[in-house]
This record gives sequence, structure tokens and C-alpha cells, in this order.
Amino acid sequence: MNERLRQDLADWLDFYSELGIEEFYRRTPGSFAPLPATPADTAVGAHCHAPLLPQAATIPTLTETKPIVSAAAPAPPLRAGASESARTAPPIRPPAPSLSLFEAAPSKPSGPETLEQIRADLGDCHRCKLARGRHNIVFGEGNPRAELVFVGEGPGADEDEQGRPFVGRAGQLLNRMIQMIGMKREEVYICNVVKCRPPGNRAPEKDEIDACSPFLFRQLEAIKPRLICCLGAPAVRTVLGIKEGITKIHGEFYDFDNSKAIATVHPAYVLRNPREEKILREDFEKIRKFLKGI
Ligand code: URA
Repeated sequence: MNERLRQDLADWLDFYSELGIEEFYRRTPGSFAPLPATPADTAVGAHCHAPLLPQAATIPTLTETKPIVSAAAPAPPLRAGASESARTAPPIRPPAPSLSLFEAAPSKPSGPETLEQIRADLGDCHRCKLARGRHNIVFGEGNPRAELVFVGEGPGADEDEQGRPFVGRAGQLLNRMIQMIGMKREEVYICNVVKCRPPGNRAPEKDEIDACSPFLFRQLEAIKPRLICCLGAPAVRTVLGIKEGITKIHGEFYDFDNSKAIATVHPAYVLRNPREEKILREDFEKIRKFLKGI
């Protein structure tokens, strides 16, 4: 085999090897005719940066060396969903599922995680567009073994500046409610649906919630609280999947995994509508009773 052909063949085998395809078998020379390349094949090949195929006419020399590849030119890689029988390229066994390029890296570690591990995995997150305008990621804070977890909507200006949840005016009201039920802020855990401030304090958008909420769910799974309190509609929608208005469903208890969840109005809403503080107080009283087992 001449040197150039040997190099082409080596490139081609490397290419398949990177795809997880290690095994080939020979087809008897002359038992099929190669198909002309289709435009789609060409596009796939270009996209995948496959090495240039040797021309079919030059291939017969390969048979002289009895390689464990087909004697004919290998066809370009299959497009996703394309049928193997749809072309006459040498049959290539699909890689075992465990060798899939896309399954090689587990997306989430198995077993219980710690909040530190989840924070480390979040990293300097740029999974959504909120990263562009933030100053600090507001991961959440509090007791990693809290019986009670609060889930708000997203950081505001104060939280963005300090990297801590509920430290502005809404946070002060939340602190008062926590004290009212005989607890300390350090005893509970506080986090949000999204961890970066939405511009102008707008509500977080679906793509932002989709990118961020897996981390929230992992936090809840790590803490395993007895009760999750959703503050405001975005938290209720995200955690419980309930789209009904908060004023209708507040104060009810719902199942969430092995925990319970309750929804109440967001403290910022109460600051804008002081008469609604009654709702907040009543719901916090329900939280108190639940935690006391009353
Ligand atoms: N509002 C929220 O929803 N979260 C915060 O952290 C602060 C204000």
C-alpha cells in the first residue's frame, strides 16, 4: 500500500475510532457498487470534519493488504436517523451504547450530593442570558439541614450586589415573619428560582428558569426539608407546577417528593400591597403549626 493511501486509511480509522466505532468487517470485493455521494452525505462529512475519502477507484489496492476494513471505500458517517440499508457502504456495526460520545459524561452524579458540590457544579454559570448582567450569583444560604426552605423568585439589586438571597426590603420582611414563628434566619434555608438578577427586576423567563431550576431541585434534594415555602407565583409554578393564582392556592399544603410544600404571597408584593400582610401572617402561622406537628 502506498504511503498516501496508508495515511488516508489511518485518518479514516481514527475518525471512526473517535466516534466509538472500533470494529469493521470485510465485504467480498465486487459484491456491491458504491453509491455516488449525496449532497446530504457531503454536508455531514463536512460538518464532522471527516478525513477526505479516498476515491473508490483507488481502493482496490486496500484488498491487497487484507485489512480488517472493507475492501471498498468506506461511506461517510450516517446522519442521525438514516437507515443503514439505505446505502451500499460497507456495513459498520453501530457502537455499543456505552461508547456513545454523548453518554460518556454523566450529566449528574448519582447518590446524595452536598450543597458545596452543587455550588461547584454551578461554577461561573453562563447557562442563560442572565449571566450577562449579573454582579454575583445568588446560590442560596442557610442551614444545609433546614426543616424549612424558602424559594423566592430571583435576586434583586441588593442580592445581586451582595451575592445573598433576600437581603433587601423584602428580605427584612421575610426575616420578621421567620422570627414571628419562633425561628431564626440561620435555621432555615433561603434560595430562589433563578440565581442571577433579571434586568430591572422583571420576572424570570422560561428559558432562564429551565436553565437554573435543575440546580434548585438538586438543592432541595440535598437538603430534604420537611416543608418548602414558595414565595410568589414563579416559585409555585416552578416547584409545584401550579399555574393558578397565588391568592387562590396560598396556605394549602402540597406533596413534593417526600416533603410538603406551601405557597404564600411574595414579601415584595406585600410591601407594595400592605393590606395583604394578613395573608402572609396567616400562612406563616400554618407553617409554624406544621413544623410543631400541631
Ligand atoms: N426577591 C426574591 O424573590 N428573591 C430575593 O432573593 C430577593 C427578593
